[in-house]
Amino acid sequence: MSRAFDVTVSAVRDLSPGFRRITLGGYALRDFGVHGPTLDLRVKLVLPSRAADGTAMPLPAFRVEEPGWYRQWLAMDPDVRGTMRTYTVRRARLDAVYPEIDVDIVLHAHGGAGMDGSGADAEGPGATWARQTRPGDRVTLIGPNSRAAHCVLEETYAGIEWRPGAARRILLAGDETAVPAICAILESLPPHLSGDAVLEVADAGDIRHITTEADVAVTWLPRRTAAAGKPSDGGRPLGELLRDAVRDIVSRPDGRGALTGAAAPEAEAVTEDAALLWETPESVPASPFYAWIAGEAGTVRELRRYLVREAGIDRANVAFMGYWRRGRAEL
Ligand SMILES: Cc1cc2nc3c(=O)[nH]c(=O)nc-3n(C[C@H](O)[C@H](O)[C@H](O)COP(=O)(O)OP(=O)(O)OC[C@H]3O[C@@H](n4cnc5c(N)ncnc54)[C@H](O)[C@@H]3O)c2cc1C
Repeated sequence: MSRAFDVTVSAVRDLSPGFRRITLGGYALRDFGVHGPTLDLRVKLVLPSRAADGTAMPLPAFRVEEPGWYRQWLAMDPDVRGTMRTYTVRRARLDAVYPEIDVDIVLHAHGGAGMDGSGADAEGPGATWARQTRPGDRVTLIGPNSRAAHCVLEETYAGIEWRPGAARRILLAGDETAVPAICAILESLPPHLSGDAVLEVADAGDIRHITTEADVAVTWLPRRTAAAGKPSDGGRPLGELLRDAVRDIVSRPDGRGALTGAAAPEAEAVTEDAALLWETPESVPASPFYAWIAGEAGTVRELRRYLVREAGIDRANVAFMGYWRRGRAEL
């Protein structure tokens, strides 16, 4: 069960050219979270609209516990209700005297207006807020209420999709929007898991160190790499490096091992969501292989097509998640 938490920006820090870490704190967060690692736990941030003089409009009060709250929120005047966006909890310090969480937000403009330099995408309100926000600003966070019965374990909360089940070999693949989730998942993995993590980012400067006890090879795929002293080039198209890397991994001899228990290649075209693709296993997978794939919806869809229809991997063992869609705002 989710609820709304009033939180205040306590710190803003640039991690790299393309990522800004926003720390949100508040005593209300004592009741936030799941009793375990946050993994890919998603939350909604409700960001205030700005009045003509630039001041933040007060956010409406939320009763997320009541059915139909989202429809009620949507029906409000957009200038009053603010903007709602989805992010991942990168880290939570909920036992601290002043509880806090970190969210790492992608600054689109850095990606080269459209991330491939095409200039196609305007920066959205989430990224603008991340650029402008200062300590002391207030937002509303919607996430799990740790006092509610079914948020007691991370496995039972719907805001977490990472469910490797019995897998011993894993594949994590995503673009920059999935970097916070992949980093948090890797940090929590036990040593007996092996596999690969591939992360496509806008720029070589966005590569960061990740720690994991698992035997997972972590590969960063920057779309732009600047030779020392030279300006960087326009960069590779969004999603291309990620698609190639996943194909390479799956077609490797040891990648083939991952296909134990693979299903016959899917012959029929599946119904595909016109907006965001979101397809996660209905039950905890029992297979030795599990894959978690998130990022731009078109890229995720192509990866799904390859893994399920060409490579014959059983989609019951893969979570496919469109985190954003090129050229389309979240709401
Ligand atoms: C479960 C989940 C977890 C997520 N976790 C994170 C996270 O931890 N950090 C994070 O930064 N994002 C995360 N996202 C993605 C984020 O919600 C979207 O990128 C969202 O669209 C950003 O809102 P916005 O207001 O900045 O842009 P929008 O108003 O939604 O979109 C405006 C324009 O910007 C483009 N756009 C949107 N996102 C990007 C992007 N990343 N790069 C380039 N162009 C973009 C759109 O295509 C559109 O043309 C997550 C999404 C989901 C579903």
